[in-house]
Amino acid sequence: MSKLRFEVVSAAFGKKAVEVPNSSKRPSELFGINVFNREKMFKYLPGDVYLKLIDVIDNDAPLDTSIADSVAKGMKRWAIENGATHYTHWFHPLTETTAEKHDAFVEHDGKGGLIEKFSGNLLAQQEPDASSFPNGGIRSTFEARGYSAWDPTSPAFLMGNTLCIPTVFIAYTGEALDYKAPLLKALRAVDKAATDVCRYFDKNVKKVNTYLGWEQEYFLVDEGMLLARPDLLLTGRTLMGHDSAKNQQLEDHYFGSIPQRVAAFMKDLEIEAIKLGIPAKTCHNEAAPNQFELAPIYEECNLAVDHNMLIMALMKEVARRHGFRVLLHEKPFKGVNGSGKHNNWSLGTDTGTLLMAPGKTDKDNLRFITFVVNTLAAIYRHNGLLKASIMSAANSHRLGAAEAPPAIISSFLGSHLSSVLDHLETTDDVVRILSKRELRLNIPQIPELMIDNTDRNRTSPFAFTGNRFEFRAVGSEANCASAMIALNTAMAEQLVIFKKEVDALIESGETKEDALVNVIRKYIKYSKPIRFDGNGYSEEWRKEAEKRGLDCEASAPIVFDRYLDKESVQMFGNMDVMTEKELKARNEIKWEMYTKKVQIEARVLGDLALNHIVPTATKYQSSLLDNIIKMEQVLGCEEGRMVSAQNIATVKEIAMRVSEIRRLVDDMVERRKVANRILEEREKAVAYHDKVAPMLEEIRTHIDKLEIMVDNELWTLPKYRELLFIV
Ligand code: ADP
Ligand code: MG
Repeated sequence: MSKLRFEVVSAAFGKKAVEVPNSSKRPSELFGINVFNREKMFKYLPGDVYLKLIDVIDNDAPLDTSIADSVAKGMKRWAIENGATHYTHWFHPLTETTAEKHDAFVEHDGKGGLIEKFSGNLLAQQEPDASSFPNGGIRSTFEARGYSAWDPTSPAFLMGNTLCIPTVFIAYTGEALDYKAPLLKALRAVDKAATDVCRYFDKNVKKVNTYLGWEQEYFLVDEGMLLARPDLLLTGRTLMGHDSAKNQQLEDHYFGSIPQRVAAFMKDLEIEAIKLGIPAKTCHNEAAPNQFELAPIYEECNLAVDHNMLIMALMKEVARRHGFRVLLHEKPFKGVNGSGKHNNWSLGTDTGTLLMAPGKTDKDNLRFITFVVNTLAAIYRHNGLLKASIMSAANSHRLGAAEAPPAIISSFLGSHLSSVLDHLETTDDVVRILSKRELRLNIPQIPELMIDNTDRNRTSPFAFTGNRFEFRAVGSEANCASAMIALNTAMAEQLVIFKKEVDALIESGETKEDALVNVIRKYIKYSKPIRFDGNGYSEEWRKEAEKRGLDCEASAPIVFDRYLDKESVQMFGNMDVMTEKELKARNEIKWEMYTKKVQIEARVLGDLALNHIVPTATKYQSSLLDNIIKMEQVLGCEEGRMVSAQNIATVKEIAMRVSEIRRLVDDMVERRKVANRILEEREKAVAYHDKVAPMLEEIRTHIDKLEIMVDNELWTLPKYRELLFIV
């Protein structure tokens, strides 16, 4: 093993688990201690201000800016008491991370000294110099004014010595430059539409909340080894690496015990998460070696999205304390599972009913079926858009490969629910009203608790799992908001359409129940093509899906087009979530990001190929040649050559592969130059997808072959067997 590799590998081996501070306290004692939550609001705010703020949070009451000063004062006092020196508006720009600009609490006191200051104005609105955040041309740099505005529905929190205030980020012309602003609008739209539909069943419902429970998958790699792999360091994934002889075939990692160092990291992470009010619940090993998962208890969607962004930042920070690096990339290693982030999604009323859970009475079940069928109709109508909402350069490695959701959106309901829908579709006489209160549905019994009853289908991108749907295609690195904006807006639109149709039937004289069942039946028929319970990875399904008219496109830059389809623009516009201008600008960013990601990968691979791989292979080749010559000298030409036949073949193969690598890298550079001359972002991204990205695979094939030919002693880059098995 090369000296460098030996050093990083043996250092990783020798590392001991880090002691976790604070571990003696119970989670319930630590929960939310770093959050300005209700308990602290109550303690630090005047009574009337507290009540007004709670009204904003719980009931969407408009924010009375006159309370901002008072809230700022209380927040500052709490933060400073807990060691804060700075504050920041924390927001989600259209990259995959969060952004923050830290300001100290200090201001001149007018007498030559400094005082700690934080006013309502500073809490409510800021103007970060935002010219370098992606904006898709909405805001050209010379008019670089975007502002961040306080989101009181997500509580402020402390990270280190900084008070972080969740905010939306908006151009001064009013367009959203972030994920949170449209997410809040989508949640409002689905709240309104779902509440209206709920009232067919229960007049007391005033509000419908969206819930999200994400499951975050990730890989851990020893820090030293990551630093010795420039591709991992710079792109988040390995651009080369031969399969390890053992990887996940034995499935021993999934069920295995957690290594000590990892267990310490997880414990530390869990404690930090709990302190930030993130209800972390499950930590376990995942299918691939060194792959793990963390899932909290589900929460209101906006908060859950913030918490997921926070956990990703937290993971990176905590991992460093334990000598690890976290890989959130969707496909860091070829040949083993990639990482996703299942988004468990449901709707629930302020009266405590989960709308996608079956209930005790037939009326409950009619409500349950109403929401399930409307979900199916929504995702059927916008299946291409939903795919676009989870698509990225990195996630495209995962989608469509035979280990993760396929690049076709379909929904799995399980045999029980499927048969209920089939029955409803075909049986005419479904509703019988026994009395004013009681109604009988001639439908098969729906067990109240389907959660453990639903069969699982791991190949489905959108599976029903008992009281919720699980959008499984979301990428591990993604901001969940992207998927949640598309899904909730589509659901809102569908519920509005549904209600209009039901009301029309009622007006024409049908009973409410008959009207509901008739419209439900229509949408069961309409959404049938989206239902698929079979193997989503099979080739037959792809053909079948195409016949059914589902979107089967797999090229990321083209999938992004779905945002600009007439139906999408109309939907986002009608639901008041995003304008066409915003959608266009956001697509420009998606294409630009796609191009940049592939461009960086291509450059990194080109560099590594030429200055790591080719020299190493050539060195080994020289030693073989030396051996061949010496063999000939000792044994004589004829015999020497015969004995060296294997070495000669190896020398030739190395020569062939090295020259292929050189040729392919040159070709890739040329293709990049051609693509770079394209002005239009979409066309440029398409060129990068069609012409540049395939070269990465071709080059890698030769490198991976060389990796197993060349003397292990000479190979400087840590191999898969080391990256994947040593922590
Ligand atoms: P699995 O890996 O089998 O899908 P997990 O227990 O790892 O299950 O994750 C389930 C996730 O779903 C958790 O985050 C959980 O809080 C969430 N969840 C459970 N019920 C709901 C619901 N009604 N709405 C949204 N999320 C839910
Ligand atoms: Mg799951």
